[in-house]
Amino acid sequence: MIPQIYGNDASLQLIRRMVQNDRLPHACLIHGEKGLGKKQLARYFAMAALCTGEHAPCGSCPSCYKAAHEVHPDIEWVEHSGKLRGFSVDTVRRVCREAIVAPNDGAKKVYIFADCDNMDVRAQNTLLKLTEEPPSHVLLLFTATHRNVFLETMLSRMMPLAVCPCNPQDCIQALCEAGCDETDAQRAQAACGGNIGRCLEWLGSEDMQAMTRHIGELTSAVAERRQYDILRILAAYEKDRQTAITFVKLLDLQLRDALTMKYTAETAVGCDRQSAQALSGKLTVKRSVQMHEALQEAYEALQANVSPRLVLAALGGQL
Ligand SMILES: [Zn+2]
Repeated sequence: MIPQIYGNDASLQLIRRMVQNDRLPHACLIHGEKGLGKKQLARYFAMAALCTGEHAPCGSCPSCYKAAHEVHPDIEWVEHSGKLRGFSVDTVRRVCREAIVAPNDGAKKVYIFADCDNMDVRAQNTLLKLTEEPPSHVLLLFTATHRNVFLETMLSRMMPLAVCPCNPQDCIQALCEAGCDETDAQRAQAACGGNIGRCLEWLGSEDMQAMTRHIGELTSAVAERRQYDILRILAAYEKDRQTAITFVKLLDLQLRDALTMKYTAETAVGCDRQSAQALSGKLTVKRSVQMHEALQEAYEALQANVSPRLVLAALGGQL
């Protein structure tokens, strides 16, 4: 009944402690990359805030029951609008009006603004007053992949809560509980690290599995210094920023594997063991540091909206 969350024990503990001491913030921003379970954490937070049992969230009191079945009158998942799935000013105005009215049957009223990555400035400005001076019964929960989607004035009123990937064992267990067979779970975990959502997406997507293959090919090309192949493989990712970001991150994990394989046989966090091994033999510590820095730089440039085509071309030259 209580939302299952793998890893992130520190955040869960913090939420429980805040509820126990009656010291909840008025606004909290749950942030972290796609697939890590931000909405699940928001669900947990809302349930804990309204729980009337002994150890919140108890999972068995009437309030937890309603929260788990998504029928709690004091928890609202604020509706998105438009193609970009932002929030309309009308919706935000309505929330501001209704939030000042006392809760229906709980001690709090929880408004969850999920996936705020496209929340525009107008919607944020409309929400500003409520975030700055909320009635004591209001808890606003926001989820977003990046903190920087919010105005500084909003950010300064939100308690940040980062969601992290979980460890390999927990990740594999979670995937098995979600119905994957163990071999698939291990393959997905090896390709995507401890991001359960990404693992599930990977298992359901030929494209992502192809990406894992490309990482292997690129690693071999880097090991053998086949410059044309390096550029050719990278160029396949210049059309979509998010895919390029994922690709660069996976490549960095692969590089980390190659470096650790020089010293120990049993480390694999990346996605293609065989090519990592081949690269490992050719890699000096100095070169791996240079490559890691180039990948970091590419990652940051992609996050900062620099054109993927330029970023990947520059990266290709440095690998
Ligand atoms: Zn409860």
